[in-house]
Amino acid sequence: MDVPKSTAWYRANPERAKANCDMWRQHNPQKVRVFMDRSNARRRQKWRTDAAWRESRLVSSKKLNKLRGPVWWASKKRKVLERLGGAHCVRCGATDLRILEVNHIGGGGRLEPRSGLELYAEIRRGVRSSQGLNVLCRPCNSIDYIERRFPDLAGRIQVVWCPALPAVETRAVPALPGKK
Ligand SMILES: [Zn+2]
Repeated sequence: MDVPKSTAWYRANPERAKANCDMWRQHNPQKVRVFMDRSNARRRQKWRTDAAWRESRLVSSKKLNKLRGPVWWASKKRKVLERLGGAHCVRCGATDLRILEVNHIGGGGRLEPRSGLELYAEIRRGVRSSQGLNVLCRPCNSIDYIERRFPDLAGRIQVVWCPALPAVETRAVPALPGKK
């Protein structure tokens, strides 16, 4: 069968083809976003309407999660947090992955049109910029919320890790969250 020259080239040079593809994705985040939105929308529609497919996906994702395990998830999460300036809380320096979260600076997380998982995936792939996001631990995230809700309490609450318990690893807090 006759394939177009370009297709033949892509098949003959899979490595370079992938590099080209990655390069294009990097330079066209807006277009990638549109493609992803379209395919996500199609999948959501299918999820709503196709009960059998939904059921099969649920079962397989449960199996997959079991196979992947917590180590796999931790490595994915670390990658996301590294993109946002490091896997540590910018307020208190906590480095325990279990309690670290992606925070929307100045609030607005609930206005985010995508789910948490989608957001994580986009940050990891570099489709979503780190603008307006940073890493906080769960307790500092609560304080962040309280400070926005009750400005008079700003600067009055602080997370202090108990020095008597060396099991908790923390990292020195940089003066300012790093600019990307
Ligand atoms: Zn913290």
